[in-house]
Amino acid sequence: MSSIYHPETYKIKDVAQQSFIDSDEIWEILNNTKPDRELVRKVIGRSLDKHRLSLQETAVLINATDPDLIQEIKEAAKELKERVYGKRIVLFAPLYIGNLCVNNCAYCGFRADNKKQVRVTLSDPEIVEQVKELQDDGHKRLILVYGEHPKYSPEFIANSVRTVYSVKHGKGEIRRVNINAAPMDIEGFKVVKDAGIGTYQIFQETYDRKTYSEVHISGIKKNYDWRITGLDRAQEAGIDDVGIGALLGLYDWRFEVMGLIRHVNHLESVYNVGPHTISFPRIKEASGYSINSSYAVSDDDFTKLVAILRLAVPYTGLILTAREPAYIRDEVLQYGVSQIDGGTNIEMKGYTKRKEQQNIETEQFVINDNRSLNEVMNDLVDKGYIPSFCTACYRSKRTGEHFMEFSVPGFIKRFCQPNAMLTLAEYLEDYAPVVTKEKGYALIEENLKEYDDDRFKTKLIDRLERIKNGERDLYF
Ligand code: SAM
Ligand code: SF4
Repeated sequence: MSSIYHPETYKIKDVAQQSFIDSDEIWEILNNTKPDRELVRKVIGRSLDKHRLSLQETAVLINATDPDLIQEIKEAAKELKERVYGKRIVLFAPLYIGNLCVNNCAYCGFRADNKKQVRVTLSDPEIVEQVKELQDDGHKRLILVYGEHPKYSPEFIANSVRTVYSVKHGKGEIRRVNINAAPMDIEGFKVVKDAGIGTYQIFQETYDRKTYSEVHISGIKKNYDWRITGLDRAQEAGIDDVGIGALLGLYDWRFEVMGLIRHVNHLESVYNVGPHTISFPRIKEASGYSINSSYAVSDDDFTKLVAILRLAVPYTGLILTAREPAYIRDEVLQYGVSQIDGGTNIEMKGYTKRKEQQNIETEQFVINDNRSLNEVMNDLVDKGYIPSFCTACYRSKRTGEHFMEFSVPGFIKRFCQPNAMLTLAEYLEDYAPVVTKEKGYALIEENLKEYDDDRFKTKLIDRLERIKNGERDLYF
């Protein structure tokens, strides 16, 4: 049987023997890079020319402190985002499957020593109930989240993924299931891959070894190397769609951004494919945990770092979650965030309870955006974004979709944007109140004007009509 646990005899081998994170190297680059105006502009220019930035170039942007230069960085990120992603924003929801945990991560409400936390593991029928609720809201993409516990074996995880895919409620279905779970051994990763997962996501939390060891007080997660090599094992098992992340507020954000870029470099150079997504959650209050860190990231630094990440890795999806309040989400959507959650409820079995107030003893941390999916959709449409539930690339086996978006001419216009419109139309037909429906179709009409290729436009209009007439799951 496969395991999420490494044998005690586990030795970090070959490729990963020396972690690809070299703190001295990162600090040397950060400390010796001068952000003079010309250099900053040169780096921005390289990014706009569709080059992924090196660590040195990323450090140039990180070190820029002049408000005018920061503004230029943000403007460039906006421009690049428009070019690479168009107006689409991908929507998803998290679903917590179980909060049992053997680890003691100081910042997490689920940590083993937190006796106040009410421990819950969803049974298959309970998963079905939650998924039905999510489908009734209009969701098509979920990320399943798990604590780290012997009970949550790869087989258990694979079973929960299959259970989610099996639910077809009304016109609803979940077309892509991503997971955020503890790193496994290669055999374990093969088991979850076979269940048809989309992205396997795992955050290193902090790339600084010393801090890592301090905040991960006990448990398997204390092993920095086991975690940082997790995505290498996922790749060895054939999972090439992975997400990385850092939990901001544990250590200097400048180092963490460099760590993330280094992680991207590593995956690209060894496996020829970078991560599909990067997450950069800011740490929030949790049961028995209050933020008291000199490393807390201010709103100004946060918005700047999102713009820098956009410029540094133009073809990697950037995820922002309901940990952030709506006003921050609005701002960073402009600079490069490409995926957000909507209608999020992180209480265990929370989607059937629908409580407005969070109960921190049954949740991992405090969230700051409690809007329903429809409120988020409305807001996006009002701002001219096309909310997308598209899962076409994944299901058409067009892997490395973000790379294609970036490198294949016309890809966004021919695939992503139309598929976003088609999934929006499904939402408008099946789940939206009248006001949203009217606004949503007006937005689709507006975007149709951009298509001057009559043959393609006719095909797209035809599919939109077929959706109005009851067909579902049409995509390019
Ligand atoms: N147990 C798995 C693990 O640790 O990898 C699953 C992940 S956990 C349920 C999801 C993520 O939530 C963690 O990787 C961490 O970055 C984040 N998280 C934990 N506590 C948090 C807090 N207080 N504020 C914000 N994010 C937090
Ligand atoms: Fe457990 Fe993950 Fe929370 Fe750590 S972050 S205590 S591993 S659920």
